[in-house]
Amino acid sequence: MANLSIRTKVFIWLSLFLAISDALFVWINYRAEQTRFQNHLEQRAQYLQDLFTVELGNTSLRMQQMATFIASMPEVQQAFYQGRVAVESEGGGAGGARASQARAHLLQLINAPWQELRDHFDTRQLHFQFGSNATSFLRVHATDRFGDKLEGVRHTIFDAIRDQGATAGFECGKVICGIRGVAPVFHSQTGGINHDFIGVIEAGTSFRSLLELIEKPSQAKFAVLLSMSHLSQIYFPDRLVALAKDNPPINGNMIESTAHAEVRDLLTTSQIDELVKHSGTIWIKVGERHMAFTAFPLRDYLGERDLHREPVGTVLAWMDVEDDIKQLRRDLAINIAYALAAFFIIETLLFFALRKATFSMEKMISTQTAVLREMAVHDELTGLYNRHYLGEFLEKEYAIASRHERTFSVAIMDLDHFKNINDEHGHLFGDQVLAETANLIMSRLRASDLAFRFGGEEFLLVFADTHIHEAGIICESLRQQLESQVIGGLARGKVTASFGVTQMANKAEPLDTLLGRADLALYQAKNNGRNRVEQVLLTS
Ligand code: GH3
Ligand code: MG
Ligand code: MG
Repeated sequence: MANLSIRTKVFIWLSLFLAISDALFVWINYRAEQTRFQNHLEQRAQYLQDLFTVELGNTSLRMQQMATFIASMPEVQQAFYQGRVAVESEGGGAGGARASQARAHLLQLINAPWQELRDHFDTRQLHFQFGSNATSFLRVHATDRFGDKLEGVRHTIFDAIRDQGATAGFECGKVICGIRGVAPVFHSQTGGINHDFIGVIEAGTSFRSLLELIEKPSQAKFAVLLSMSHLSQIYFPDRLVALAKDNPPINGNMIESTAHAEVRDLLTTSQIDELVKHSGTIWIKVGERHMAFTAFPLRDYLGERDLHREPVGTVLAWMDVEDDIKQLRRDLAINIAYALAAFFIIETLLFFALRKATFSMEKMISTQTAVLREMAVHDELTGLYNRHYLGEFLEKEYAIASRHERTFSVAIMDLDHFKNINDEHGHLFGDQVLAETANLIMSRLRASDLAFRFGGEEFLLVFADTHIHEAGIICESLRQQLESQVIGGLARGKVTASFGVTQMANKAEPLDTLLGRADLALYQAKNNGRNRVEQVLLTS
């Protein structure tokens, strides 16, 4: 990195920044999509839960309607009443022969409506109990079991008996769990207004048709699970053992109802087991496909009235979301493609923009450098080279002359009595004289000759590849030209100069020696009356 150009470094840093923000963009987008999807699933889960709850309510009420329908039939009321009279007269419980007769009569009466309820309203149980002590009189669905007293687990029945009113809800009994509706049965003496409360009729069903009903519109699959801890408190122990043989519990739950055998495998996966324990909504891959699962607690008749009670189980619903996940992946791929395309386009633009910027900057810098260099080696007033450049130039001249076995000459040109011109006409005028003199010098010199402003009113002329007398001739011509020219508006001959000319002695000669010799020649020219050219070849 250390020896990379600034342009490359800027490019690398900007690219890095761009790549990171691009990746960030993709990631944030993906996370947002995921959150959107999770929200969508949660909304759907809420819909499934509502659907289930509403339909559970509907089914319970339907059972209650069934029970009420039967309870409202006068001949049923009459037969049930006679049954109670018979049982009471025969010592309670199952009663005796009269009771049997009454039971058979009731069964015969109920037979036709029972078929109707079973076939068209999915009723599974129909049960008559006496109100006085909750003794079973007739189970239409299991006619050989009667005379038993219901024990303390059947709150729908006890509440109905206590209030002589109807109840409904999901509830487990000692033998079976079901969605129940209970209605009171009254016996009215013909024409009388006194209603005698005989007992209750309970109609019950399972979750099977409820689940069938809600699976279609929701396109989800459902399973109702009952917790073993609840069942073991309610069921007869041997009943539970028998049930568990056919339907072994999984992770503390027994599958109460489902149309989908795969639920057994699903429940053994740890994520779904966790979900069933804590409720919520997740999506995971099952086999080859992504599925969304939602679990919510199942409350029974008592639990709905007392929310502090533990739920009796869990409802698990699931559906295939492979297409949604594929769409999510597709969106991600599109996002990545966009980000990559944007990255490469911006990178290319950046590359060319940086190149253009550095090119024009480099160009500007080199122009500026050239200008500065020009300024550094030139004298501002006269436009001639300045003294700084003289040393550098003469060194080169020495080298060239030595290499090619040639020589060169120099002359110091000093304006005569220049102080007087300044004194008489002012310093600014003096400057103008200097500038015009410089122009004259430039116009008279050959292309290979060079002029420097050496000091105030002194100029140094360098004659490349030139012997001293030739240089002397050029100086003489220059002297005459100056003398005969109007400079600064002054009369001819007012501005003159003296010249000291010398030649390079050898390649080892120090610069100062060369210039000193030229100075000596100038001194002689001044001494000998000014406005003249003197040459000194070698110092003695
Ligand atoms: P000499 O013939 O002996 O050379 O006499 P001189 O008066 O030319 O020499 P002197 O060295 O006594 O004076 C040089 C004068 O040049 C003094 C100074 O005012 C003037 N001078 C030096 N540099 C500049 C300049 O840049 N502009 C102007 N106007 N005058 C300058
Ligand atoms: Mg001088
Ligand atoms: Mg002078």
